[in-house]
Amino acid sequence: MRIYILPIEFTDKNLLSSLLAALRDAFGLPVMILNRSFSLEGGRDPIRNQYNSTWILSRILEIAPDEDCKILGVAAVDLYVPVLTYVFGEAQLTGKAAVVSTYRLRDELYGLPKNPEKLKERLEKEAIHELGHTFGIIHCREPECIMYSTTYAEEIDFKSKNFCRVCSALLEENKKKS
Ligand SMILES: [Zn+2]
Ligand SMILES: [Zn+2]
Repeated sequence: MRIYILPIEFTDKNLLSSLLAALRDAFGLPVMILNRSFSLEGGRDPIRNQYNSTWILSRILEIAPDEDCKILGVAAVDLYVPVLTYVFGEAQLTGKAAVVSTYRLRDELYGLPKNPEKLKERLEKEAIHELGHTFGIIHCREPECIMYSTTYAEEIDFKSKNFCRVCSALLEENKKKS
């Protein structure tokens, strides 16, 4: 089992390399960058001017290497699913594919000064959270657990990068199964 990071029209190499290290720590698995990207244009809703994250997941699956792996798409565009105004990311529960975007994680979107360190932390947390879903973990009620569900960017800052005891045990169990 390995984890691939798939940059999708995403060019910040520093963010990608810190993310790679964070995922390796969080999951204890090999993490690699997959250079097989696709254009996001087909997932854009012209009225909302946002990108359908479920469409992105299906594209990720099409290019998935035929092996036991998880793939995390990393984008910088505004993501949505039809029933919600926006999402930070989306994942298949117990599947291969997940996606996250930095778009709504940036302080400058909310009229605050740029904060690269905060952006890095938020991206790492969102990525671990979405990949957690691919390992079969649902949302957790423990506010510090990485699987706690968050709606606003500043809420992400309150949770840790770690899985709580229950989610951590589930992760280890499901890593063995896959
Ligand atoms: Zn979630
Ligand atoms: Zn938990």
